[in-house]
Amino acid sequence: MEFIDLKSQYEASRELINHRIQTVLDHGQYIMGPEVAELEARLAQYTGARHCVTVASGTEALVISLMALGIKPGDEVITTPFSFIATAEAIVLLGATPVFVDIDRSTCNLAPSLIEEKLTPRTRAIMPVSLFGQPADMDEINAIATRHGLAVIEDAAQSFGASYRGKKSCNLSTIGCTSFFPSKPLGCYGDGGAIFTSDDQLAGAMREIRVHGQSRRYVHTRIGVGGRMDTLQCAIVLAKLERFEWELEQRTRAAARYDAMLSGRIGLVGRMPERTSVYAQYTAVVEERERIQAALQAAGIPTAVHYPVPIHMQPAYAHLSSDDACPVAREMAAKVISLPMGPYLSAESAHTVAATLLSAAGVALPGADGAADEAEPPRDTAAAPVLP
Ligand SMILES: *Cc1c(COP(=O)(O)O)cnc(C)c1O
Repeated sequence: MEFIDLKSQYEASRELINHRIQTVLDHGQYIMGPEVAELEARLAQYTGARHCVTVASGTEALVISLMALGIKPGDEVITTPFSFIATAEAIVLLGATPVFVDIDRSTCNLAPSLIEEKLTPRTRAIMPVSLFGQPADMDEINAIATRHGLAVIEDAAQSFGASYRGKKSCNLSTIGCTSFFPSKPLGCYGDGGAIFTSDDQLAGAMREIRVHGQSRRYVHTRIGVGGRMDTLQCAIVLAKLERFEWELEQRTRAAARYDAMLSGRIGLVGRMPERTSVYAQYTAVVEERERIQAALQAAGIPTAVHYPVPIHMQPAYAHLSSDDACPVAREMAAKVISLPMGPYLSAESAHTVAATLLSAAGVALPGADGAADEAEPPRDTAAAPVLP
């Protein structure tokens, strides 16, 4: 079993992907070729944001966003310690200071109620992460930002395709950033990312920063980076987009299969009403994680821990706050375990994973007490879309 089965995904879209790649090889515009603008238009339309600016990676998306906002040394940015390191790293790279605010125990997303006590006259922005594919509490966060004149950057590296009260992730705040790292819900075959905003001025700045702060050829009006996403990677995302909605449905089905067996029997990262998750990860919350992970591994089931150490306790960041800060993040870092997930995870595999997890945790299997078997996996009815 694969933790994330990229091979089956490629097999399912092979012709489309190969065709898109061949087209780029034939026209030869490897940098800023026509697929770049095509992808930006498609993604902007998908999210509803006015602008999409593709960039070299999700990390670069965060860095360029902070640069476009003019974040500088001495500034503070509120963020979560329970994320991939890139979230805080981008802030530090700009010479600014990440100020860590603890997470909500259920969703593991930034807790809005704890933000205001951390604001200072130096606070410039809030950077929530839509963790595991579920949007953060964006209305509450946006309301705080509006009250205090702050920008909000949604780190949507794991949540492209998710929705929140009828709007798409990446279009929920001043700026949204996503990643096309291969294992993300919408991935390419290398590095890639995108920034979304409906602010014309910010979008213009981002486009210049992406190419060395260049406003016209060899006229550098601001400090920038080499941050473009290459044409081949854009072509691959365009090919994968054809099947993306179907894949999201399959992810939801896989999660529902896990839910049917695990919900109420084992701790799970919580999901909120009025939003959808794209299940970048399906994450359980367990005691004795090491033992459970070993039992799953012995059964041939790969798992992962997102994330074993909260960012504020990482060696390079520990000086910014005390270890006692953010106790919920610390606790969840010791308990979370992500299960195999993806659009191509079969009903049988999901059943095996859930049954093995329950057994390792010493929890009775559904149906074992003679009650109706809730674990009966739903039948596959949704047919794969017919591709050209
Ligand atoms: C993956 C990820 C990033 C970084 O994306 P890259 O494309 O790998 O640079 C940033 N933030 C979060 C939350 C991520 O999961």
